[in-house]
Amino acid sequence: MRKNIVAGNWKMNNDLDASKELVKGIKKSIKKLDLKNTRVVVAPTFVNLLSVAKKAKKSRIEVAAQNMHQADNGAFTGEISADMLKSVGVKSVILGHSERREYFGETDELLAKKVDQALKNKMEVIFCFGEKLEERKADNHFKVVESQLKNALFHLEAKAWKRIVLAYEPVWAIGTGETATPDQAQEMHAFIRKLIVDKYGDEVAENVSVLYGGSVKPDNAKEIFSKPDVDGGLIGGASLKVEDFVKIIKAAE
Ligand code: PEP
Repeated sequence: MRKNIVAGNWKMNNDLDASKELVKGIKKSIKKLDLKNTRVVVAPTFVNLLSVAKKAKKSRIEVAAQNMHQADNGAFTGEISADMLKSVGVKSVILGHSERREYFGETDELLAKKVDQALKNKMEVIFCFGEKLEERKADNHFKVVESQLKNALFHLEAKAWKRIVLAYEPVWAIGTGETATPDQAQEMHAFIRKLIVDKYGDEVAENVSVLYGGSVKPDNAKEIFSKPDVDGGLIGGASLKVEDFVKIIKAAE
């Protein structure tokens, strides 16, 4: 049975001290919670992964990277490999975030390679995708999402999906304060699950967690997460405050 996941994407925020404080606060707060079906993930910037992973030890907090290179190693100045991430205890990576696509030119084709590299290294992938505002306005959102998934993930074998988490993030809702309505999220998540049923069958589709991302806050999380095909969220801004993030975790249980 699939799990709910609440994952905090810290993006390019928090220096070392702030990162340690934040994870310490989350750890302390969730200790009191009796979480049964919810995983908690935080994704700090690369330089703070090791310190955050150390602080997160002996807690339910898992640590993910925000990106990764597709090659094993070599002359790729400024890049980070799967081996490097694993060596500091990181077993999950966010790939395909809209900011990576938009500002760093990451394409579906490149992302397919990154996904393969992560899976070859037995890492979990939190794969982000979603339509832009003009694509939704033109009623192309289902087509866009379908092609993003097909191009980057549908070459995988069924068994590889054990390590895939999907994060539907309509670009128009990221960091804008504008959220998809719970019904809009459910409509898209049901569409996504149906695509997976058609390609891989019921078992794979039922077991994959599909997160929603885009201005999830403590006051809207519960309603969005209550939808049957929404299995938690990828959280940006609200993951930077212990209190807000913990409220969102509670909403997922
Ligand atoms: C994100 O960047 O993945 C995100 C969902 O950000 P925010 O929650 O700030 O919209």
